[in-house]
Amino acid sequence: MEKLSERDKKHLWHPLTQHKTHPEMLAISRAEGVMLYDEDGKGYVDGISSWYTCMYGHCNPYILEKVSAQMQRLDQVVFSGFTHEPAVKLSEALIGILPQNQQKLFFSDNGSTATEIGIKMALQYHFNKGQKRNVLLAFEEGFHGDTFGAMSVSGLSVYNGPFEDFFIEVERIPVPTSENIDELLATLRSRLEDNTIAGFIYEPLVQGAAAMKMHDAEGLEQILALLKEHGVLTIADEVMTGFGKTGKHFASDHLKTQPDIICLSKALTAGLVPMGLTTCSQEVYQAFYSDEITKGLFHGHTYTANPLACTAALAAVELLQTDEIQENIQNIIQWHKAFDAEIKDHPKVARTRQLGVIYALDLNVETERYGNLRDQLFNHFMGQGVFLRPLGNTIYILAPYVISKTQMQQIYSAVKAALEIV
Ligand SMILES: *Cc1c(COP(=O)(O)O)cnc(C)c1O
Repeated sequence: MEKLSERDKKHLWHPLTQHKTHPEMLAISRAEGVMLYDEDGKGYVDGISSWYTCMYGHCNPYILEKVSAQMQRLDQVVFSGFTHEPAVKLSEALIGILPQNQQKLFFSDNGSTATEIGIKMALQYHFNKGQKRNVLLAFEEGFHGDTFGAMSVSGLSVYNGPFEDFFIEVERIPVPTSENIDELLATLRSRLEDNTIAGFIYEPLVQGAAAMKMHDAEGLEQILALLKEHGVLTIADEVMTGFGKTGKHFASDHLKTQPDIICLSKALTAGLVPMGLTTCSQEVYQAFYSDEITKGLFHGHTYTANPLACTAALAAVELLQTDEIQENIQNIIQWHKAFDAEIKDHPKVARTRQLGVIYALDLNVETERYGNLRDQLFNHFMGQGVFLRPLGNTIYILAPYVISKTQMQQIYSAVKAALEIV
C-alpha cells in the first residue's frame, strides 16, 4: 500500500498551504497524552497542543469515557426548540468559572464562528436599541478567524488581499504600551464622540497569531474602561487564551473591567471535537429579548451545542478545576521561568516573554513569517522529536498541562539546539 502522505496528494487541499511549494504532509497515525506518532511510528512531543486545543493531553481517558457514554444515549439533536442535559450542565459549569458578569451562552462550531457571532451581537445590540453604530474597533495585528466578519477585524490578514474590498468597516488601534497609552486614550476619546463605534474586539493580553505578542493589563484596562463609558461593547476573543493558559481561567480574569462578550473555542472541547461559544452579559442579552421576533439573534448552525461536544467541554472544565491540573499549570510556569533565565541573554535571543504557560522568544535574525528560516527551524524541531511551529523569527511553547518535566526538557533542549543553528 502506498504511504498516506503520498495518497494525500491526490485529492486533499490543506489549510493555510501553498501546495506547489509545500507538497509534503506528514501523516499522523495516533496520539496519546502529549505525544503525536507518525505513520512510521516516530513520536513527537506536541509543544503547541495541536493549536492550543488538547491541554489535558490527546485522547484523555476521562474525556473519552464521558463522550463514549454520551454517544450511546444522544448523539445529535436540533438545538432550536430542543435542549439537552450536556448543554444545560455545561452552561452551569461554565457560569461557575467565567467572569461573573457573563450570563448567557450561544454555541457554534469553531473560533471564527464564535467571533463572528460576537461581532453580530455587538452590531445588532445597537441596531435593536435604534442606535446607528456601524464601525468595529480592533487591535493592529489581532487575529480573530477566517470567516468574513472575523477576517475583517483581523489586522493580521497576511494573505487576505482578494477579500479586503468586501470587509465590514473596521478601525484599528495599536496595543497599549507604557509609552503610547496617553496618546492612545486621547485619540480614542475624540474618536468616540460621534457614537459610531459599535464594538471593540481584542485578544486580551496575548495575541496568539501575531506570534504570542503580549501587552500589559494596565493599558488594556484603561482602554476598556473608556470604551464602556461611551457605550461601546467590548468583545474579548479568548479563543486562544481561555481555559488556564495565562495562569488564570481566562485572560480577562487579570483585568478589573469585565468584557460584555467573550469568544471561546480551541481548549473548550479539549481537542476532541470542534465547538465554539460566545458568552455575554445579561445586559447584552436583554437588548435581544423582546415581543418582536426580529429582535432575536437569527443566527444558527446545524450542529449548535452538539451533545458530544458539550460532554467533552464539560469533562474538560472539570479537569481544569482539579488540583492536579492547577498544580501542573503552576509547575510549567516555574519551569518556563527557569528556562528563560537560562537563555534570555543568549546572543541569538532578541527578547523573551511569558504569561502563564505561554512562553515565546524572538530570535535575533530577520526573516519572513513563512520564510526559509521558519522551515529550517520547523524541520530541526521535528528532527529532534518536538512539534513546534515557529512564526517568523518567534519560537513559542504552549504545551499540554499534562506534560512531564522530562518532556518539557526535551522541548527546551531542542530550542537551545536551535539557537546554535540559526
Ligand atoms: C484560532 C483563533 C481563532 C479562530 O478559530 P478557528 O477555530 O480556527 O476558526 C479566532 N481567534 C483567536 C484568538 C484564535 O486563536
